[in-house]
Amino acid sequence: MPPVHTSSLEELTAVLERTENVLLDFDGPVADLFPSGSGTKIADETRTPILRAGVVIPEPLASTVEHLVVLEFAAEHAPEALESAEQAAVAGEIASARTAPVTPGAGDFLSACAAAGRRVGIISNNAAPAIEGFLELHGLRDQVEFILGRPFARPRLMKPDPTLAFEALRALRSRPDQCCMVGDAVTDIEFARHAGVRSVGYAKNAERGRQLAAAGADAITPTMSDLAAAVRLLGRG
Ligand SMILES: [Mg+2]
Repeated sequence: MPPVHTSSLEELTAVLERTENVLLDFDGPVADLFPSGSGTKIADETRTPILRAGVVIPEPLASTVEHLVVLEFAAEHAPEALESAEQAAVAGEIASARTAPVTPGAGDFLSACAAAGRRVGIISNNAAPAIEGFLELHGLRDQVEFILGRPFARPRLMKPDPTLAFEALRALRSRPDQCCMVGDAVTDIEFARHAGVRSVGYAKNAERGRQLAAAGADAITPTMSDLAAAVRLLGRG
């Protein structure tokens, strides 16, 4: 395996020191919401109302474990089943959040942000109640200023659509260039670019690192602990 494409602590700090607020993705940087393929059940439950409505789901959507992709399909091809599919997705995410592990270093990162005076808002394609429950469960809710989750039954507004970024900027009374997005998906980086926000990609492996860099991430971190350390350098500076 080639080495993971990552930035040095100094490079991470350089991106963060030009910003005041952090827009933080949830599934990946904070939680592992569907560990090792456990997304099958929620994807099936999201498909059920669509199939009940008599809509044929083609491959690869018929067998994907990505329930959010199924929701996007419902919005386009089965609008009559969209609300039920969304309800199934929300319920499944809430259930998964009860047992999902915290990403190593995530708590550390949130504490470091608090100590450095960086405000953090969660921006996620998952449902806000699932995120809220997870943060409460792990004693992290106080370290997050707000949670913006997937707008109910409006999957077109998920990242990379920048709508949630503009909402976050209003909540923070902040300009785009004062914010930095941290996320583990290409869509997070695209979302940041659409909104004029800097971005740090969290890449657990070399392939993801290459994808996030190619999407235009300003820096890449291999762990949330490294990013926490970069924030602490800010605190000292
Ligand atoms: Mg993610």
